[in-house]
Amino acid sequence: MSVTKKNPDSSRRSFIATAAVAASAALVGLKSHSARAAGENLPHLSESDPLAKSLGYQMTAQNVDKSKFPTYKPGERCADCRFFQGTAGEKSGFGGCQIFAGYSVSADGWCASFNARS
Ligand code: SF4
Repeated sequence: MSVTKKNPDSSRRSFIATAAVAASAALVGLKSHSARAAGENLPHLSESDPLAKSLGYQMTAQNVDKSKFPTYKPGERCADCRFFQGTAGEKSGFGGCQIFAGYSVSADGWCASFNARS
């Protein structure tokens, strides 16, 4: 009768390889999920989009027409709005917006639906 013994080094190597593959897959999944959640891969919202136009969306908040949108206050930016799905407070770049589903908005932008994060 022969008894097959497993080589402990082989088992350890196999475990480490499996753990490394699992960790890599988890990281790829997290990156993919966070990118989707942030909306960074979505097309940029155009200022000429009908809804964007009606809400006075500007990619640069300083360009807001204050005579048409008097609620705008200097310093308000998409990155500080509760509807922004990118990184809160970011200085540049784009992120999703709950108001403009399917598009990303400029972190430095603004529209009349601005609602400050609390
Ligand atoms: S709702 Fe907020 S994040 Fe979206 S475009 Fe308007 S100001 Fe920017």
